[in-house]
Amino acid sequence: MKGADSSPTAARSPTAVAPQTLCKRHSPDNPGLAESENAPLSLHNKRQRTKSGSDVIEPLVSSCQDSAIPAPDCSSPLANGKENGGLSPHCAATLEYVTQLPEGCSGGGADPSVLEPSNLTSACEPDEELEDDDNYLDSSEEELEDELTLTNNEDEESCGEDDQSVISSVTVGSTCSLRSVASEALSTICINEHGLAANEDGSLLYAETPAPSPLPSFTPSLFSHVPPSINFCQYNEKTVDLPVIIGRLLKWRFTNITPLIVRRTITNSGFKITKKTLQWCGTWGKHMKSPCFKSVREFQKINHFPGTFQIGRKDKLWKNFLRLQTKFGKEEFGFIPKTFVLPGDMKALKATFDKEGVKKKWIVKPPASARGTGIQVVHKWPQVPTDTAVVVQRYISRPYLINDTKFDMRIYVLVTSFHPLRIYLYQDGLVRFASVQYNNASTSLADRYMHLTNYSVNKSSSSYTHNADAGQCQGHKWTLKSLWGYLKAQDVDTSALWSRVADLVIKTIISGEHDIVVRTRKNVRSRYSCHELFGFDVIIDERLRPWLLEVNISPSLHSASPLDHSVKGPLIADLLNMVAFHVPDKLSQQQQTNLLADLNLGEKVSGLCLDRRIYTRLLTPDEQLKHVTINAMSRSEYLTAAIENLTPDDVRHMIMAEDELHRAGKFTRIFPTAETHQYFGFMEKPRYYNRLMDAWENKYSGCREKAIENIEALCADKFHLRVPPTFKMPKVTVSGGFKVTPRLPFSPQLGKSPPSLPPHQPPPKLLTQPQRGKKKAPLLRRSRRVKLSTHPLKPAVVSSFFYLRGISAGHAGAEEEEEEEEEEECVTDTEEMRVEIYAAPESEASLLARDKKGAVEQIEHLSICDEK
Ligand code: ADP
Repeated sequence: MKGADSSPTAARSPTAVAPQTLCKRHSPDNPGLAESENAPLSLHNKRQRTKSGSDVIEPLVSSCQDSAIPAPDCSSPLANGKENGGLSPHCAATLEYVTQLPEGCSGGGADPSVLEPSNLTSACEPDEELEDDDNYLDSSEEELEDELTLTNNEDEESCGEDDQSVISSVTVGSTCSLRSVASEALSTICINEHGLAANEDGSLLYAETPAPSPLPSFTPSLFSHVPPSINFCQYNEKTVDLPVIIGRLLKWRFTNITPLIVRRTITNSGFKITKKTLQWCGTWGKHMKSPCFKSVREFQKINHFPGTFQIGRKDKLWKNFLRLQTKFGKEEFGFIPKTFVLPGDMKALKATFDKEGVKKKWIVKPPASARGTGIQVVHKWPQVPTDTAVVVQRYISRPYLINDTKFDMRIYVLVTSFHPLRIYLYQDGLVRFASVQYNNASTSLADRYMHLTNYSVNKSSSSYTHNADAGQCQGHKWTLKSLWGYLKAQDVDTSALWSRVADLVIKTIISGEHDIVVRTRKNVRSRYSCHELFGFDVIIDERLRPWLLEVNISPSLHSASPLDHSVKGPLIADLLNMVAFHVPDKLSQQQQTNLLADLNLGEKVSGLCLDRRIYTRLLTPDEQLKHVTINAMSRSEYLTAAIENLTPDDVRHMIMAEDELHRAGKFTRIFPTAETHQYFGFMEKPRYYNRLMDAWENKYSGCREKAIENIEALCADKFHLRVPPTFKMPKVTVSGGFKVTPRLPFSPQLGKSPPSLPPHQPPPKLLTQPQRGKKKAPLLRRSRRVKLSTHPLKPAVVSSFFYLRGISAGHAGAEEEEEEEEEEECVTDTEEMRVEIYAAPESEASLLARDKKGAVEQIEHLSICDEK
């Protein structure tokens, strides 16, 4: 711990004072200042200054809370979209903040025809409607990326975008629909007379104590004949000990980056962490290359979706965002500061510098890094590196300050499914302050303690002050809830702010949605397998507009202080509960029945273990037909048609959605809601399950009990377990208690010769070519680096014949630092893979040689591992 509040540095910490004295110049009691050029503007202000200084009278955002938003005259491309039934909510019926656009700026200069989704993705377009394909055909990552790569935004510069001049409208239709969700989450938060974050009834926000006695070990589903899920307690709690026979099955795969708080949570909830088994049911690791997701078995869960680097890399995030900005304008997509991706955008950036001179500030970042590494703020052209790949982003030079100090927010977002899209926003998060007071002068740009808010950067500053108390607004790290309490005390409309954050979260996820859905379809076999926690870094400018800085696909869960624990402890328990872990389906029906009785889990359940039928992607022909039919309808048509004759597959989706919502804890579902159909127009194409959920929410969002009742009536008849005849249940062979017998790689000691290859396959060069300059490796096992996507043995081929163990290497050092650092691993999608190849036992090889289906089955034997 460095320094305390009494230390001389305390005066520089964001606040250590009572709320009423906080941030005086922002005080609502000081209206004169609120009108001044530099004063932060409250969301309540009706008068906003335009760039030219003239006042624009704007209606209050709260006016759009009225359910009857007048149908606006929409020139928005969405205006006539059928998703909106002719009414585009995206047209700003009510704009809260509007600064004038420079003339001629129409929201993007790239040739829209180049950016048509059809031009971008036609080659990789899957058959979206037909979900039964089990399509594991390989397609290279490069292909997909090329298709999604956009041209530069060279001529867009006329917008002169920075935080002073950018279009700053609020997408009223969508944010208003989220406003009630936001208000609900924030309504009770305030700061009490002792300066502590509290509820309105006076109870402290962070006063929860761990449960004194063990918590139940299972959470029953809301529905009959749906197995219960493991109940996760928090890192400092315990669940009731499980019967040994179940405990043996609950294996968690160790990775070097599994955060301690996750390890504690899972071990206290009955899991055993191990490196050695291939029969693991869960893991928390790095992002993997898309083809590696094929190795995830149907009883396993992994904390990523394929392709999320599309939003997790700074360069890709911008390209995806720019595509939507070009199509829908800055009114909808104006929340990421203008960015240039070098070297591609070098000419355009140079032209901008030439035009603007040194008056604008930019921030230079590596495209796939984290923790503030390699970041600098610049304002002159020679400061821009021209020899490396970087992103150069407009610097938000007038951030909202608290005690003259800059901060950013870490927002946690959970996506449990991309099709249908289900997005949850966590109610708490972190607020990270710079350790030196802010100063906009060009001469201070080199001061990283002033301009960067990363903990990794600021922790080494002599003025950094820790904050151990989650409820206190003091030191250089606060909880998000404390910030809301603080801002409320400043008379800021926090619900409006939070709903804008929710809006930017949804739009950002949508910007990567298409590619992720395509990759998931190609590489993930079960709906059970994937979920992902994202860390959104958001900064607020002096006009209280949120700006997205980046999205982390492996947000740090490292917890070094009670404050971290208060936020991340409940976060991880809620997350694991929501995504529902089941006991793997390795127990006989008799064993399950006995255990259900012993555990007193009720009569509604017929099985204790995972039921793969609930998560299958297979569809009957009738179900496929319904997908096609609904996708061809207008909203007014599908609102009724989608839910009047639910299919078993529909019911399975409802089960997942309702159970998830029921277990959401402090997560708030922001997509789907009854209003989020307003976002459908931003998606590349209509998606059946999103429409189904829209119809469901439209009918039942106000009466959940009725929704649950209707589904339960079908579940009681086991309607949801009716699967296509092609579905195969796994075989469970148990004798007197299940024994885990992991399928280990072929051992040289027990060795047989490498399998002979079928005639149509190329020889596996990796097995026969010794590494140059190195001692010849043992005959049956070699390990070397290969770039999977370009290697002549494509992953699918490799994996058909060999055990392939691969995971992205990440950047050196990320793993060791995880428990030390606050920040997250960086993401790359171009790094090499370490692939360990083992000769497969002959019997398996010959099985695989038969056909592609055999190869797909073999994928079940693959194991994912971190690079050692
Ligand atoms: P990293 O992944 O290395 O953390 P970020 O994009 O999050 O990179 O930037 C690091 C820090 O730099 C942020 O936490 C924020 O304080 C500051 N920063 C980044 N981009 C901007 C920007 N456009 N304007 C102002 N500050 C920024």
